[in-house]
Amino acid sequence: MKDHYEAIVIGTGFGGAVAACRLAQAGIKVGVFERGRRYPPAAFPRGLKDALGGWVWQVGRGLFDIRILSEMTAIAAAGYGGGSLVYANVQMRPPREVFASGWPPGYSLEELADYYDLVAYMLEVKPISAAPGPPPKTVLMKQAAARCGRAQQFFYPNLAINFGPAGENRFGAHQESCNFCGECIIGCPNAAKNTLDLNYLKVAEDRGADINTDCEVIRIEPLDSGGYTVTVRDHEHDMETASAARYVFLCAGSINSTQLLLRCRDHYKSLPKLNAMLGHRYSGNGDFLSFAFDTASAFEPGNGPTITSAVVYDRHNQQPAWFVLEEGGFPKELAALVQLLHPRAGLLEEADRIGLLKQAHEALTHRAAVAPGAVGERGFGDADRTAVFLEMGRDRANGVIRLNAPASDIFIDWDVASNLPLYDTETELSADFAKSLGGHLALNPLWKTLRVPVSVHNLGGCPMGAVEGEGVVDPFGEVFEYPGLYVLDGSILPAATGANPSHTIAAVAERNVEAAIRKIRNEAKWRAPEMDAALQHRAHEPLFDVVVPAGGTALPSTPPVVLSFTETLNGFVSFGAAAVDYAAAAREGRKAGTSASMTLTITTPTLDSFLIDKRHAASAKGTVKVAGLTPAEGAAVRNGVFNLFVAGREGDFYRRRMLYHLPFRGADGADYVLDGFKDIRDHGGFDVWSATTTLYTSVRAAGGGVVARGIIRIGLADFVKQLTTFRISGTRSLWVKTSGMVRFFRLFLGTLFDVFIRPAMPGAV
Ligand SMILES: Cc1cc2nc3c(=O)[nH]c(=O)nc-3n(C[C@H](O)[C@H](O)[C@H](O)COP(=O)(O)OP(=O)(O)OC[C@H]3O[C@@H](n4cnc5c(N)ncnc54)[C@H](O)[C@@H]3O)c2cc1C
Ligand code: SF4
Repeated sequence: MKDHYEAIVIGTGFGGAVAACRLAQAGIKVGVFERGRRYPPAAFPRGLKDALGGWVWQVGRGLFDIRILSEMTAIAAAGYGGGSLVYANVQMRPPREVFASGWPPGYSLEELADYYDLVAYMLEVKPISAAPGPPPKTVLMKQAAARCGRAQQFFYPNLAINFGPAGENRFGAHQESCNFCGECIIGCPNAAKNTLDLNYLKVAEDRGADINTDCEVIRIEPLDSGGYTVTVRDHEHDMETASAARYVFLCAGSINSTQLLLRCRDHYKSLPKLNAMLGHRYSGNGDFLSFAFDTASAFEPGNGPTITSAVVYDRHNQQPAWFVLEEGGFPKELAALVQLLHPRAGLLEEADRIGLLKQAHEALTHRAAVAPGAVGERGFGDADRTAVFLEMGRDRANGVIRLNAPASDIFIDWDVASNLPLYDTETELSADFAKSLGGHLALNPLWKTLRVPVSVHNLGGCPMGAVEGEGVVDPFGEVFEYPGLYVLDGSILPAATGANPSHTIAAVAERNVEAAIRKIRNEAKWRAPEMDAALQHRAHEPLFDVVVPAGGTALPSTPPVVLSFTETLNGFVSFGAAAVDYAAAAREGRKAGTSASMTLTITTPTLDSFLIDKRHAASAKGTVKVAGLTPAEGAAVRNGVFNLFVAGREGDFYRRRMLYHLPFRGADGADYVLDGFKDIRDHGGFDVWSATTTLYTSVRAAGGGVVARGIIRIGLADFVKQLTTFRISGTRSLWVKTSGMVRFFRLFLGTLFDVFIRPAMPGAV
């Protein structure tokens, strides 16, 4: 390691490898600092006897950086080549719509096209169809997609794998041919994966970049003379040292770059002018992991590259808009571990019962030791008949990475609720595919039990913005207020890519390092030496062959988890009641004998969507009877809508309304609407019962004026009956049913608490 370079690159993943390569090619003296070690093919960890030996960064600086950060579990790699060492090789451009929101000017599929082609050229991408013959799982997924009516959205994504003969790649590194061993996500033992150390980083080293592995940057500080000093923990020599450069390119990945900058701003105070956007726009890229056990045919998850096929779900502007389901795999080394999730293993049920997972989560969150050997070696079911589904999509990128001041550690606030519609639909599509393969669906236990998602595609935290205040870095990755300090990794992506993100991370890094080099070298036309060749061999993006019908792809056929209940109300209305006095109209109606009643079944959309929807809208079906207006047996409600609690006027916190909008056809053939509201507020005297059971009712001619008014109510006997009608359907899981019911009643009772109890509490306004 030298004490001075012209440029320093921190990290060697997709951002860092691109930066190191191009800076070195531009003749800039570059020093590269990577916290992890080099992984030649034989160096990857294998075997689970010593479960932590070489596997985990946190224990002995192993390969995987696994962090349970409160509301999100983030997985990355540590090593020379970053995520490429363990990733599943998929190189995919995102859908066009991704760039329409959150991204600064200058970003679109067209504007990035040359850089995508350049990355595709450097990583020599091609789909599985370029291999001699597809593995069974690829064939089964294609058949399953057809059975699910999704043949037109099935495709083979580009992979960065050598399917050709063994030999030197175009950068002079030796590579073997892929032998379908299925070990891609634990490090390719054959140098068949086109990992970054075999292309970008090979070029960087050949062009003189000074590579320092086992060197973790722990602090960045500006120099008075311009440029920056980086403080480095040299793990190999167990010492702290420092190096300086005019330009620093931070590429430590979404979580680690954000953590380092947060520490520099708030702990070391060495970069105090980093703005308030730091930590924001975090996205887990909608990652969702599930399994199908006991598939009808042998899926052979260990045969072939980890991912070979994909199916797009695209509903245009509806929520969730876009995600992709890819088949996954696992190497035989992990088979026993995966089989523990088999429903027959009983592990999850047991874990649910004794709260083991919760304890483990808490222990890991607080960095307590995890007992090695806690994982059994015994498998359940036939591992060959286990399918893996990896889904990812356009989540809301509304997470925040925060620094926990005393420990200088980080956690993530992840708004699960607002992202639930995406996770729910991913679950339903997984269930469709599990069924189509003849298997049983099992979900990632952390999600199933604790609603903590796991992401291997962490993005954001140092987002780009057109101007300061919208982002931490400008549209070229240069940090606002700190000239010469760049961030060029996944942390600067301001929104989920939906698709596997490494292709975009690398393309954005290509674009931005080109601009930086032009500025540093004062050469307006500098570009990557491989650009000409890349443009002559433009890459084909298989995603863009997918056909999406005008109305969007089909909804999953697995029913969503919904809640329903049935309620009956009876009362009186009076026709021609001019004044808006419901009580008087009801009295008049009673005298005149004009009864009104209804029996409705209220059904939520996906329960999760219902709970997060501010208007809590659900459908209402059933019959309405209004004496003199409907047939004696009543009229069917057509497209009725029910809103559980709608907030009152702004600032009127202690008031809600329950709304009913019930169109029906009268006996005279004309269309009418019964509009009703329950006035949920304290009218004086703690009248919860009356407020929640009294429906102030108007009957209107459709598109016209009010024809009748009155009050209808839920009687005590009907209420008791109603309580027996609450159901959760769409799942057989007792746990999902119980927790769904608890969440519904938490909303119901919580709102009543807010309205009736909270105003009486000390300090209420
Ligand atoms: C199991 C798995 C499978 C995946 N499959 C795919 C896939 O098929 N396709 C896809 O597109 N994406 C995939 N990903 C995601 C992909 O790997 C990441 O999106 C990508 O690697 C992020 O690139 P990056 O440059 O932002 O950071 P990284 O690739 O994470 O690189 C960051 C580097 O910085 C180093 N570093 C961190 N902190 C410091 C420090 N303080 N000092 C020095 N060095 C530091 C790290 O060790 C690492 O090498 C997968 C990820 C995982 C874990
Ligand atoms: S299947 Fe095996 S040989 Fe092929 S890329 Fe993956 S790990 Fe390497």
